[in-house]
Amino acid sequence: MPEVFTILSDLDGVQAPTHEPVMIETARRLATRNYNCPIQYSDLTSWHTIYRTSLAMTQDREFTQWVNQSWFDPNILIQSRPYTGALLALRTMNNIKGGIVEVHTVTSRIPALKESTLVWQQKHAPWHMPNRLHLRSEQEVDGGLTGDQFKANAARNLRANVFFEDNPDTWKCLVEAGIPTVLIAQPWNFTQEELDPYRCVNSFASFIIPSLVLLRNWCHSKKA
Ligand SMILES: [Mg+2]
Repeated sequence: MPEVFTILSDLDGVQAPTHEPVMIETARRLATRNYNCPIQYSDLTSWHTIYRTSLAMTQDREFTQWVNQSWFDPNILIQSRPYTGALLALRTMNNIKGGIVEVHTVTSRIPALKESTLVWQQKHAPWHMPNRLHLRSEQEVDGGLTGDQFKANAARNLRANVFFEDNPDTWKCLVEAGIPTVLIAQPWNFTQEELDPYRCVNSFASFIIPSLVLLRNWCHSKKA
């Protein structure tokens, strides 16, 4: 068995701008109360921005709860478009000549979202093998395993060579676990300057050419 180069990728914020359907739903709901939603992509300096802004506008905590629920609603998340460049980069790395590179998706989405996530992935990334999509089990969630802990465990178990992640807290957790992790640029991770050297500043797609050169060299060295 040849050694495998294992690439792990988060989904939300890396493969898909999941905040977009949540923002669309936010604008729709706020419009029912005659509010114009002012939130722009660049305002999203935290995952809580949409909730906090909506609450500040409506002053209605009960009404605004649906923002938090939106992040767990399969009917909303499945509407997200993919980041085409990111999926192309992952597919190109996965299909590198020789077949000794594996791409896995590791997400902290809750187990109830597994079915809809599989459907989304089959639609937008049919090359992605269903058994390489990893979410927490019901038992793990009930046992208190956090998304960050789950990702670190998965990275160790799958012997990840690299992880692509957008959440700065998750990035720290993975790096502390010894996993080389590329922070994909998003407004919610630009607030921490100390992370600047570890961020893929341009698009994910810009990462692909140097990555392929490294991967081809790695594959060649393992076959030599
Ligand atoms: Mg993410």
